[in-house]
Amino acid sequence: MDEIRMVDLVSQYEQIKTAVDESVLRVMAGGQFIKGPEVEAFAAELAAYLNVRHVIPVASGTDALQAALMALGLQPGDEVITADFSFAAAVEVIHLLRLTPVLVDVDYDTFTIDPKAVERAITPRTKAVIPVHLFGQSADMEALMAIAEEHELYVVEDTAQAIGAACISSDGRREKAGAIGHVGTTSFFPSKNLGGFGDGGALFTRDDELATRIRAIANHGMYRRYYHDEIGINSRLDSIQAAVLREKLPHLDRYNEARDRAARHYDKALRGHLHIRIPKRDAVRTTHVFHQYTLKIRTADRNRLKAHLESRGIPSMIYYPVPLHAQKAYRRARYRSADLSVSDRLAKEVISLPMHTELSPAQLQYITAAVLGFFNAARDA
Ligand SMILES: *Cc1c(COP(=O)(O)O)cnc(C)c1O
Repeated sequence: MDEIRMVDLVSQYEQIKTAVDESVLRVMAGGQFIKGPEVEAFAAELAAYLNVRHVIPVASGTDALQAALMALGLQPGDEVITADFSFAAAVEVIHLLRLTPVLVDVDYDTFTIDPKAVERAITPRTKAVIPVHLFGQSADMEALMAIAEEHELYVVEDTAQAIGAACISSDGRREKAGAIGHVGTTSFFPSKNLGGFGDGGALFTRDDELATRIRAIANHGMYRRYYHDEIGINSRLDSIQAAVLREKLPHLDRYNEARDRAARHYDKALRGHLHIRIPKRDAVRTTHVFHQYTLKIRTADRNRLKAHLESRGIPSMIYYPVPLHAQKAYRRARYRSADLSVSDRLAKEVISLPMHTELSPAQLQYITAAVLGFFNAARDA
């Protein structure tokens, strides 16, 4: 059996190596390294895939969030609500722009922002909400869009972990996660479901005006070359990344199915165990593209399980060990009164198993046997 990796980008590359290599060489021979036809073609292909009017590629998922908040014209002191249990990118850019972050709790079962907590946190200064589609499932967009409409808030969907997931509304309509709010953002960091060979990101929107503004902001605030109408940033996807991503995009659905197959293997082996909670599929509202397969270990010691797996050559990760409100950089007195108990609890209970497109049945079998073995040994001791 091959070595088990948390993420395996090498085996995935080997399967499409010829096509990727040819595309990258074409970029090198063409001499257009920034912008140019590869980036434009990729943006058009991703827009078609997501069914949005505009895709604006940028240099990273974090830049995409920053450009989104800048383009919405938010002012210092405006409040932006986001999930406390998440990666730090959203809260980071909120702070960088001198906006006021309001961290709210998440749903225990789905790990995504709790619409009721969003509603409770709204004040006259609230201007935007950033739901994060964590681990591969969409947040409850129907509830969030209804709240946003009632309170006139912008919704920026952080889709870095859920590209390709379908969001299902109560009338059965399916839209891609990231294509529902005013702006969607994603990341092409190599380990994401659609990953490049370096950094990259994108914004999506159906709004023509907003798209024009985002394009200008990502390009030094220029609507016309060398006329800087507003303060922008420099954030571009390079042509080599675009060429790689163009080769990978047609495989994205297949990659997400391979992740789902691995998840179903995990589900089947671990479902119903007294000490293990498998991730809930919120199948009425969303498909799951399993950026991560994340267990909750309720009674036994999560950290001891991690060590046990490591001793058997199985990597695992804690996404995320510290909720954002408790991070050194983001601790604020005002969070003391907020109820972030689910987020606190998740940080103690979660453990993510290896998840990528190349896990073999033998590897999956070995991993689940090791997880179950840990609990059996604990019971017999
Ligand atoms: C990866 C990630 C980002 C940031 O993407 P980068 O391309 O690394 O800047 C933002 N939000 C979430 C939820 C992520 O997982």
